[in-house]
Amino acid sequence: MTPREVAQTLREISQLLQIKGENAFKVRAYELGADAFETLPADPAAPGGLNERVKKGTLTEMDGVGKAISEKVTELVTTGHLRFLDDLRKEFPLGALDLMRVPGLGPRKAAVLIRELDVANLDDLERVAREGRVRGLKGFGERTEKLILDGIGQAKARQTRQPLYESRRIAEKLLERVRKVPGVLRAEIAGSVRRYAETNGDIDLVVASPTPDPAMEAFATSVEVMEVIARGPTKCSVRLRDGLQADLRVVPEAQFATALHHFTGSKQHHVKLRGLARDRGLSISEYGLAPLDPASGPGPEIRDEADLYRALGMQTVPPELREDHGEIELAKDNALPDLISRDDIQGFVHCHSTWSDGKASIEDMVRGAKALGAKFITMTDHSQAAHYAGGLGPDQIRRQWDEIAEVEAKVGGIRVLRGSEVDILEDGSLDLPEEILENLDVVICSVHQRFKLDETKQTERIRRALENPFCRIWGHPTGRQILDRPEMPARWEELIAVAAEKGVTVECNGSPRRLDFSADLLRLARKHGCKVSCSVDAHSVGELENIHFSVGTARRGWTERRRVVNARSPEEFLEMLRA
Ligand SMILES: [Zn+2]
Ligand SMILES: [Zn+2]
Repeated sequence: MTPREVAQTLREISQLLQIKGENAFKVRAYELGADAFETLPADPAAPGGLNERVKKGTLTEMDGVGKAISEKVTELVTTGHLRFLDDLRKEFPLGALDLMRVPGLGPRKAAVLIRELDVANLDDLERVAREGRVRGLKGFGERTEKLILDGIGQAKARQTRQPLYESRRIAEKLLERVRKVPGVLRAEIAGSVRRYAETNGDIDLVVASPTPDPAMEAFATSVEVMEVIARGPTKCSVRLRDGLQADLRVVPEAQFATALHHFTGSKQHHVKLRGLARDRGLSISEYGLAPLDPASGPGPEIRDEADLYRALGMQTVPPELREDHGEIELAKDNALPDLISRDDIQGFVHCHSTWSDGKASIEDMVRGAKALGAKFITMTDHSQAAHYAGGLGPDQIRRQWDEIAEVEAKVGGIRVLRGSEVDILEDGSLDLPEEILENLDVVICSVHQRFKLDETKQTERIRRALENPFCRIWGHPTGRQILDRPEMPARWEELIAVAAEKGVTVECNGSPRRLDFSADLLRLARKHGCKVSCSVDAHSVGELENIHFSVGTARRGWTERRRVVNARSPEEFLEMLRA
């Protein structure tokens, strides 16, 4: 449970209480509570974060959190459920909250519609408004009815999008559930989640089983599911608690590969592929690959996606590239980029420890990295300017080197490299003196403050840092946080060109809230020939797994193995960083 999920839950309570007609004071208390939880660190396990506060019973120390909210959040975090909300939800139809998405419909009006006209969702609302039954309600009138009809499309069309880390987490839970069902032979995540798109409008799963029902039942009854939207013989669509839609298709095993391919998309990629297939007298669909002329018998057997691309005379296009950015043309010429993959990664770059704002000791981080097969790890705690993150000054850094050497000797079999995530100060200088910088193996330079400088000032600030001879890696370059904080204003291509010229490695930061550079900017970096670090920005042992997000994003950004600095031995890594 993240602080953001807690905040969402409290907001839902506040809205339902409004519909119920509870007093304004009570309603407001839940809103203030929700605001308070949004100020906590996004990672629930962070020091001073959600988990620690629940454990120590210190939630009420936060502004806006009283005893009642503290008790509810504690129940929610420790059990995953909140009986108060479950009971409250039962008092209203499932679509009650959606009604309030229609401009001009507040909780009071929503309550009247539910009570007087039995309206349970947006479809009901549209119907009664068309039938002219809304205007007669007390406090509504013809104008309100028209406003509702005008606004309803907008409310329906506003597609919920979610960041990849949330969609992926839920998709993996659903996948795990259906994979356990007897009779399920194959099951995969499809759609934009499989393509590592950074936000997703829905979740798609494809399953091969001779008997669809048990898999669909397991899917429809998952705890994440709020309501079943539609259920046919082989397809089930549900709405999840957080508003996203998830679709499950169950197909015979012989159709699995083409169905998976079909539901992975993207649309643009498929349009082009279908054209190619037509030229070869074939037609592609979710059901298989068939000759256009039925007289020429059945199509080739497609066991996996490689068979499909082979039948079209081309290389297999990895899911992350299926966006019609030129991949089809290259695949026809057998010239797709040799993409980085998880197994190529030999070292974890960009790791924090309890020396700054990480929550594991250096030794724990190193053991965790070794357990994941790493040959090296770079410890890069924050520098002094990041005082909110417990950044280190020169003396502490020197002392940290002793511990690094001790841990390296003690754990054995893994190199532990000295580093720092150095703040780029407002004037573009680095936050540590030269005598420290020259003794570090790895210097990651990042902006953590003053995101709002104008484009020219920000560009000059970063340029100065990139031109600093000690700068090796450009950390989370744009500073964005997906759906939360936009990129800083700066002239990115110009800066990418500077990085390429100065030999600075650009980061593909795998912290799932960042994914920075994005795939689009990584493609630009590739054009300029930049080196790339697939970094984890890990603040705990568990976050070493961020490597999957980093590699997925790097692949989507067309990043080749040979350009990735940590896809090699520690010696080669250090050499390539300095090249
Ligand atoms: Zn950072
Ligand atoms: Zn960091």
